[in-house]
Amino acid sequence: MATRDDMLQELGLTPLWRLRAVDVAPAPAGRAEPPETAESVAREAARDANGATASSSSPLLPGDARSARIAQLEWSDFAADVDACTACGLARTRNRSVPGVGDRNADWLFVGEAPGADEDAKGEPFVGQAGRLLDSMLASLGIARGNRVYIANVLKCRPPGNRAPEPSEAEACRPYLDRQIALIAPKLIVALGKSAATTLLNVDATIASLRGRVHRYQGVPLIVTYHPAYLLRNLPDKAKAWEDLLLARRTMRGSATVAEARAGTATDPPG
Ligand code: URA
Repeated sequence: MATRDDMLQELGLTPLWRLRAVDVAPAPAGRAEPPETAESVAREAARDANGATASSSSPLLPGDARSARIAQLEWSDFAADVDACTACGLARTRNRSVPGVGDRNADWLFVGEAPGADEDAKGEPFVGQAGRLLDSMLASLGIARGNRVYIANVLKCRPPGNRAPEPSEAEACRPYLDRQIALIAPKLIVALGKSAATTLLNVDATIASLRGRVHRYQGVPLIVTYHPAYLLRNLPDKAKAWEDLLLARRTMRGSATVAEARAGTATDPPG
């Protein structure tokens, strides 16, 4: 039987943004809170609008209000908004923010983990060694960076020393990825590695258990495969990644055929 969540998803009404309960911590004894003035309220609003932490307890713009604001961003403001974001500590250590790159009307969306040193220097995702392997993976699908493909990461800023994203960082950055997906409306998403897969699917699972199946992100087919940086260190798993790409291509062809049948123009889709 379909659950309420299934139905909401089917209706395109997920994820639901719920207002976080506002923390009302009692003031420490002996320390009187300053009275709230129009000026202090405005100062707080500006601080939050500029990306105060997702767990902010501001009664005006808590984390969910920030998410709602990002969910309305247009491409014209997107990169600047990411660049102004201070929602997590990575804003202090990064050199450049890395919002994403590619065709804004892409059929294919590839999502990686986070910028590394090369990406942090250039402001573009996947430009280092892992990026060269990703470009080969794209070429094997008959597509190229910027043409029918968009490339983004879970995090838009580099974690120091290329460490894995902290859950709080992924949560703070997630509204940007959700908005990118809504704006692009890809036909298929490929999650590169565990961070992308577990963030997009909202599960805690291994790549091995997630690959080989077609998942859904808000109704969009999603394929999980290994991260190119992992494949550079584990060459035998390239064969499995190739299987994943074949599954992705079959899935894309299947969805393209259905779309074309509806439109009454049955041609063999490219790719
Ligand atoms: N690894 C990623 O996940 N993303 C990049 O942009 C580069 C390396």
